[in-house]
Amino acid sequence: MKFGGSCLVDEKAFSKILDITNLYKNDQKIYVASAFNGITDLLLNTASNLKDSKKIIDNLALIEKKHFDVIEQIFDENSSQLERSKNWVEKQLSELEDAFEDMKEFGPEPYYIDYVSGFGEIISTYILSEYLRSNGFDSVYIPANKLIITNDNYNNAYPLYKLTNARMKNKILPLLEGFDKNFIFCITGFIGRNKMGYTTTLGRGGSDYTATIIAHSLYEVGTVKDIKVILWKDVDGLLAINPKYVADASLIRSLDYREAKEIANFGVKVLHPKCLEALEQNQIPLEIRNFDNPVENINFTRISDKTDKEQIKGISTIEEATIINVSSGSMVDVPGVLGKIFKVMGKNKISVSLVSQSASEVSTSLVVNQEDADKAINALTNSKYFKEFFEIEYEKVAIINITGLKILENKTKSQIFSALDKKNIHVKALSQSYEELNLSLVIDKENLIEAINLIHNELCEDFESIKCKDNN
Ligand code: ASP
Ligand code: MG
Repeated sequence: MKFGGSCLVDEKAFSKILDITNLYKNDQKIYVASAFNGITDLLLNTASNLKDSKKIIDNLALIEKKHFDVIEQIFDENSSQLERSKNWVEKQLSELEDAFEDMKEFGPEPYYIDYVSGFGEIISTYILSEYLRSNGFDSVYIPANKLIITNDNYNNAYPLYKLTNARMKNKILPLLEGFDKNFIFCITGFIGRNKMGYTTTLGRGGSDYTATIIAHSLYEVGTVKDIKVILWKDVDGLLAINPKYVADASLIRSLDYREAKEIANFGVKVLHPKCLEALEQNQIPLEIRNFDNPVENINFTRISDKTDKEQIKGISTIEEATIINVSSGSMVDVPGVLGKIFKVMGKNKISVSLVSQSASEVSTSLVVNQEDADKAINALTNSKYFKEFFEIEYEKVAIINITGLKILENKTKSQIFSALDKKNIHVKALSQSYEELNLSLVIDKENLIEAINLIHNELCEDFESIKCKDNN
């Protein structure tokens, strides 16, 4: 189970972790904790303001205060846990201070940044472990940089599974097998180490990833295969659409890894895309559950090898983009045109999100981020080749992206277009590649809100009423 910063804010939140621990009393548990809210940002902020000595002092004082406030809430006065936790915070802060001094002297090298940014987890996880102990549970604190071995890609490290598996086998398995069910392992999220022994971090929001890496390795080396990952969040699970567009957005209850990867890549902030990769191979299920409602039995998201084919798994948007249309009647059947377009984009470091070309080859449409639009248009229109043979048009647009196995059915597409037709919303371009679980539609920016509401109501109403109403 992974507990994010919002699960560690105050006494009430910590006591919910106890509730959860009791709820899962028959299972063996490994807990992964993120930093307290805002701490990673503070650490990174300090690391990027090294010239400002006052800022370093102020930030360290603030980090101390934020932890002490919680420590004083969750532990009894004069208790040994309170004292140990405060001492731990002090010790880490003094190491941080030294590290910031080194960084001033030697420069903010990437390995320093990772070293300092992982302290949030080192502090929070220790406190969590002490808290469990103070409430009668046996718990042990384990820093993940003893377990998760990564490559040298600081800030966004990738686990080296073979080495990590070996560590898990030697360090965690004997403990897991040697203790009873009530024993809880508290492991720091976000951090690992490379072969040289330097701390690395797994990317922002990486604690989810930590939980899945641990699950993966345990599966690989242990005899117990009945493993599940639960991410405790401040929402019920994945929603079919951002509630800022549709207030009563449908909850997705069941989806498979492939679908989940698609929607995670579309920036659904609830889930770190790399998590799924760690779980898919061994089909370890992942649940996203609401921390405020741990007993919930129906309304949560489960990602596994099974999916509910009747559900659309996500509607996401790009609110502002530019579509560029490159056309030429005379260049039909001439090989290499696409190559030239993308070479221009690549040379200018412009990422293209959607591409569509009809089989006639008369024109090709591509969509770029709004920030890159001018650069892309200039690069194409200033290229001699394109100036000579092609006509280039462009327009600001919005994109709707609909994800799920269900998109492969004709019926789904017909529902989408009939829904849009009700309000005369015109689709300017579209794209679905081979057996792809995404259909992307390009429409006028002004139509965006109306269009996604129409599509959501058409496609998601059904599964909500069928699956929810009889249960609620
Ligand atoms: N503390 C890290 C971050 O803020 C990792 C995490 O929260 O998952 O990015
Ligand atoms: Mg965080």
